[in-house]
This record gives sequence, structure tokens and C-alpha cells, in this order.
Amino acid sequence: MEKEDIKLVCKDCGEEFLFTVGEQDFYKEKGLEHQPVRCKACRAKRKAEKMNQEKSE
Ligand SMILES: [Zn+2]
Repeated sequence: MEKEDIKLVCKDCGEEFLFTVGEQDFYKEKGLEHQPVRCKACRAKRKAEKMNQEKSE
């Protein structure tokens, strides 16, 4: 079966985004079986917020 990009809907902003074949491979490599629930922008945003929190502590 050939791999395809999977279209997902972001949990945070409700926008559609692609879970690309490359990302699927990356997830598999990391042993992650779930699909991402957020688009790249929201993931980056959350990451930035997390980093800010860590900085202020
Ligand atoms: Zn989003």
C-alpha cells in the first residue's frame, strides 16, 4: 500500500492541515502511533509558549 499525505483538522484552530508522508515516517521512527492533533502553526505556538513558561520559572 502506498503512503499518502493524510488530511487532518487542527484541534486548536479548526484548519485543515496535512500529515505528510515524511512526517508519518518521522512519527513512526519515534515510535509514535497517534496522529498529530494540531497544525504546524499551532504546534509551534504551543512550543513557544512552553518555552516562555520554562523561562519564567
Ligand atoms: Zn492549528
